[in-house]
Amino acid sequence: MYDNNNIFAKIIRGDAPSTKIYEDDYALAFQNIAPRAKTHILIIPKGEYTDIYDFTANAPTELQSGFWNAVRKTVEKLGISGNFRAVANTGAGAGQSVFHFHLHIMSDERFKTDF
Ligand code: 5GP
Repeated sequence: MYDNNNIFAKIIRGDAPSTKIYEDDYALAFQNIAPRAKTHILIIPKGEYTDIYDFTANAPTELQSGFWNAVRKTVEKLGISGNFRAVANTGAGAGQSVFHFHLHIMSDERFKTDF
């Protein structure tokens, strides 16, 4: 069950701050508050989905395609398009702590764009 009081829902609504990297109608990319790599970005869809399973099973095709397009645009903007990891922790047992689907983008390259 999706809880719209989670921190990422608040960030999308503008009720909590974030350092934005990329945003469009479908997704928002922002810096992780506690980075575990030189570049550690989170990308979230603008929709109420708890995890990657919920998102891929239930989000409309337009949102899914818009989300993955935003992933590509984000890594291109960061200048790390050939060198990164994308991770979606799914379920508390796998380390998920925020239950709004998010993709971690991590790279040992520091991103080249100044924000
Ligand atoms: P998970 O463990 O759910 O896969 O990842 C959640 C991530 O969200 C963690 O890496 C954590 O550092 C990040 N995070 C938690 N709260 C905030 C916040 O308020 N702002 C930002 N930018 N990141 C957050």
